[in-house]
Amino acid sequence: MAQVDFIVPCYNERESIGALYEAFVSAFDKSGYDWRLILVDDGSSDGSFDLIAELAHAHKNIHAIQFSRNFGKEAAIMAGLAASTGEYAGIIDADLQQPPAIARQMLDKLVANDDLDCVAAYQENRKEGALVRALKSSFYKVFAKAARSDIIADASDFRVFRRRVAQALLSMPEYHRFSKGMFAWVGFNTYAFPYTPDERTAGTSKWSIASLFKYAFEGLLSFTTRPLHFITVLGFLVFAIALIYFVVLFVRTIVNGVDVPGYASTFGLVLLMGGGQFLAIGIIGEYLARAYIQGKNRPIYVVRQELNAPNDQGEDLQNS
Ligand code: UDP
Ligand code: MG
Repeated sequence: MAQVDFIVPCYNERESIGALYEAFVSAFDKSGYDWRLILVDDGSSDGSFDLIAELAHAHKNIHAIQFSRNFGKEAAIMAGLAASTGEYAGIIDADLQQPPAIARQMLDKLVANDDLDCVAAYQENRKEGALVRALKSSFYKVFAKAARSDIIADASDFRVFRRRVAQALLSMPEYHRFSKGMFAWVGFNTYAFPYTPDERTAGTSKWSIASLFKYAFEGLLSFTTRPLHFITVLGFLVFAIALIYFVVLFVRTIVNGVDVPGYASTFGLVLLMGGGQFLAIGIIGEYLARAYIQGKNRPIYVVRQELNAPNDQGEDLQNS
């Protein structure tokens, strides 16, 4: 019986977790898979973990991990990957927007095709505004170009994959994790599985336009150093133009004598260059900050407690 571990990052998902488990039972019971859920409570404040712990006590196939605080979805995914032991693993949201029944179809597809390593769901008909739509699609275009990675547009973290893919992801110790990009970076044969996400069953999405922007920015910065090259090229161009201009001015002064030029153009140019330099230093600073954080080598997450970990016979870590 093939073992599959579904990693579920949970942040304030108290109202969804029970229904999620039920949906898994109906999609996977009698499926012939030895399925497990790795529920990672990412520092919820709504008592999600009490519910997760209850489930874990009632069902052996629930592996519960609680973080010491909110570390973010990417960290939760990492913890789940580290805890997974099965031949197959999957990532699915807790809010039931990604139906377990679809996860089952994706897994069947993966298992049936030896040459596939990963099946990634991508959202076919997204119910979002035109602006968000356009911003997202331009992000994917920029990312694919800048990071030179084959990123599947609109592919979510909703995926199932073989152990080797999980291991490749675990071998990337980076602090700034951007799993969309990381899946693209590790490569492997990936099948894009179309699906239409359901409405959230309960709670609210933690994404605002601002946080999407931040996410996109983080993603780019953690995957490509092209902005740094861009600064170099820009600096080179400006320097070349300045040099030519200097020669022209010099010759003109020799030939025509000194004339009094306008201040407006000078002032404008100073502002422009000043702004450009701030921007350039800012971008360099962003990379420096990342190198600094990574250099501290801090763990990506801190676990508070764990229930039903496969190697401690379902005992609380505190008791063992
Ligand atoms: N999530 C998390 N940590 C966070 C934010 C979100 O583990 O800091 C989880 C959340 O519980 C859900 C998944 O990540 O299972 C996706 O979050 P959400 O539904 O808010 O995002 P969306 O579906 O709108 O992309
Ligand atoms: Mg969601």
